[in-house]
Amino acid sequence: MKTALITGISGQDGAYLAKFLLEKKYKIIGLDRRSSRSDSWRLNYLGINNKIILEYSDLTEISSMQRIFYKYNIDEVYNLAAQSFVASSFNTPISTCDVNALGVLRILEIIRNSKKKIKFYQASTSEMFGKVLKSSQNEITSFNPQSPYAISKIFGHYITQNYRKSYKIFACSGILFNHESPLRGEEFVTRKITVGLAKIINKEIDCLYLGNIDSKRDWGYAEDYVKAMWFMMQKKVANDYVIATNQSYSVKDFINEAVKYYGLEIFWKGKGLTQKAINKKNNKIIIKIDPKFYRPLEVNYLRGDARKAEKILKWKPKINFRKLVEIMSKADIKRHLKVENN
Ligand code: NDP
Ligand code: GDP
Repeated sequence: MKTALITGISGQDGAYLAKFLLEKKYKIIGLDRRSSRSDSWRLNYLGINNKIILEYSDLTEISSMQRIFYKYNIDEVYNLAAQSFVASSFNTPISTCDVNALGVLRILEIIRNSKKKIKFYQASTSEMFGKVLKSSQNEITSFNPQSPYAISKIFGHYITQNYRKSYKIFACSGILFNHESPLRGEEFVTRKITVGLAKIINKEIDCLYLGNIDSKRDWGYAEDYVKAMWFMMQKKVANDYVIATNQSYSVKDFINEAVKYYGLEIFWKGKGLTQKAINKKNNKIIIKIDPKFYRPLEVNYLRGDARKAEKILKWKPKINFRKLVEIMSKADIKRHLKVENN
């Protein structure tokens, strides 16, 4: 039985990866930080909460992580912990870098000093490409970051490569494009939309306020993407891979696709900041732009080129954009009805 340490176990990817590795008969140690609202809702949602050993620690504190490495015979580390929200990184740039950049180095130092050969996976991101320099981005496309988040992740990416080359550690990075699911945090635009529309049809709110809805992303499904992490770790030689669907859609496309699951028909009026979505049935505005959701610097467009992963890892996403919107919309409608019926 292999033992995997997953940092960020309480997050979207941590939960799905834990579920996947449990199916592969791994023993899972989840690195969790203490929180006053720690209810492990994602692990409960997947029904795996009692199948994981949770250890309290923090990526900012090397000694507490060291204790976990001494306590367990760890084979694989999946470093998913991060301050992962781009918008917040403009408000908390220093702590974002402490966790997302130095946190990676702290774990790599523990692995470097360990007698055991421990494999390491780093959660890199398409945000590193930022204001893109090519129309689709792959492993050799230059980075052009636009946020403290992206810059902190570039440090994590390069230090992972550096430790691989300097110390022959099996250390790989997955450059994952946006991936979503019913377990995505509600501050991210996809879940904000699927939850917001559920509240509108339930008459809890009249209108949903968003930022730059012309922005385009390459959106995939999180359960597909965590599998790619494991594939990378099973290769003989460590390497970096872009994981993406190779398709790009705007936030507005996501809305247009989602509304039909809520029984809504909409039409759009205006441009840029004056754009609004109007409910055809009653002419009421249900989506408006609020400039407060714009970022100091925006990444307007991302589209991955995951041919390397397809060729070497034999990985391909199963869920496309339309199916993703359907899964997320239906899950939030169901959740919402449950709450209403209680
Ligand atoms: P989430 O925000 O859902 O989860 C982040 C996790 O990191 C949470 O478990 C959080 O704990 C934990 N964490 C934050 N700070 C610390 C800390 N100081 N010490 C220990 N744990 C901490 O992110 P996702 O699951 O969506 O993403 C997983 C990883 O992949 C992240 O590194 C993210 O940056 C990266 N990524 C994600 C993409 C996506 O589209 N989802 C795209 C590309 C990369 P808590 O619950 O206590 O907050
Ligand atoms: P990101 O790609 O990691 O930043 O994921 P997000 O889901 O936070 O944002 C995706 C895109 O949606 C970005 O270009 C945002 O500027 C845009 N967006 C538009 N309106 C909103 C909003 O209200 N909230 C968030 N989070 N993003 C928004």
